[in-house]
Amino acid sequence: MTPQPPKSQQLASDNYSGICPEALEYIHKVNVGHVPAYGEDMWTREACDLFRELFEAECEVFFVFNGTAGNSLSMASLCRSYHSMICHRVAHVETDECGAPEFFSHGAKLLMAEGVGGKLTPDGIEQIVTKRSDIHYPRPRVVTVTQATEVGTVYTQAELRAIHETVQKHSLKFQMDGARFANALIHLEVKPRQLTVDAGVDVLCLGGSKNGLGIGEAVIFFDLEAADEFAYRCKQAGQLAAKMRFIAAQWLGALKDGAWYCYARNANDCASLLERNLREIPEVKVLYPSEANSVFVRMPEPVIAALRAKGWIFYTFIATGGARLMCSWDTTPETIQAFTDDVKAALVETGVEGAASAKAK
Ligand SMILES: *Cc1c(COP(=O)(O)O)cnc(C)c1O
Repeated sequence: MTPQPPKSQQLASDNYSGICPEALEYIHKVNVGHVPAYGEDMWTREACDLFRELFEAECEVFFVFNGTAGNSLSMASLCRSYHSMICHRVAHVETDECGAPEFFSHGAKLLMAEGVGGKLTPDGIEQIVTKRSDIHYPRPRVVTVTQATEVGTVYTQAELRAIHETVQKHSLKFQMDGARFANALIHLEVKPRQLTVDAGVDVLCLGGSKNGLGIGEAVIFFDLEAADEFAYRCKQAGQLAAKMRFIAAQWLGALKDGAWYCYARNANDCASLLERNLREIPEVKVLYPSEANSVFVRMPEPVIAALRAKGWIFYTFIATGGARLMCSWDTTPETIQAFTDDVKAALVETGVEGAASAKAK
């Protein structure tokens, strides 16, 4: 098989996509004259106010360059160096942040809990919290959930509220990694505050880059006390943008007329379509219900190799393995169809098709 050139759209990561036109246009719009630097400008103020409106809550808003910084710095602001932070075994903070949460908290330890579908449960948290109470165990202080999860599932409001009860019972703090928060919102058809303030979330790291921004995530504190001196943490960590207006502008462009929602809906719809297509193929096993913008599948190795030779790029190391097929704000149904067609062709070319059912006979 001769390898084909890479496709113009990939299913590797929602970070493969570019900037949405609304964010890009707003960057041009704020690119006028001289304004105060380091977030003291009117556009940044406007973006912060827009988040207060969006979440219908008093909150303190900060902008950082990426999700790793948002998660690490926000968790560090909730705990001391001898504390621990409870996360799911497949959480991004544990598997994909190179130890940054421990680094920025000066040693607070991540403790991993289990739970099906990439979700923490009150029981799983409880087990870790009550396991030990002696001085030799890092004291549990923070619970962090990922919404939507790393495997494309979504915590319901009831699940979040149940976790919050456990959080409260043990005087813990509640952090949410919302790299794909928009996709969770769309899936549940609820208001932003219902998944955050109303569920007792103390701080949310709200993802922008995976849903149409070029750069910049928002760290939103609903626990106003925890926001105290957070700006210093950002600055010290090299996360204070001098020309902050260009991060704020992207959020204004994406949020003002609801483009951010439309794009998340598109990504979710494309994932649903892909899931439906792939469920019809017996040799392909869908691993999790596709509730956000990804589909995880188990496929025979030769099929994976054939798809890569056809120019497709996708990851097979995320969470518990399997191929992760990720849709983004601009993924088109044509891309989904092309991938589906190539899976079918690969099954035939590799002789895998029908082999499973023939063996069963
Ligand atoms: C992408 C992602 C992040 C942010 O990663 P950065 O590369 O640091 O921007 C955080 N959490 C989850 C679950 C993600 O998928």
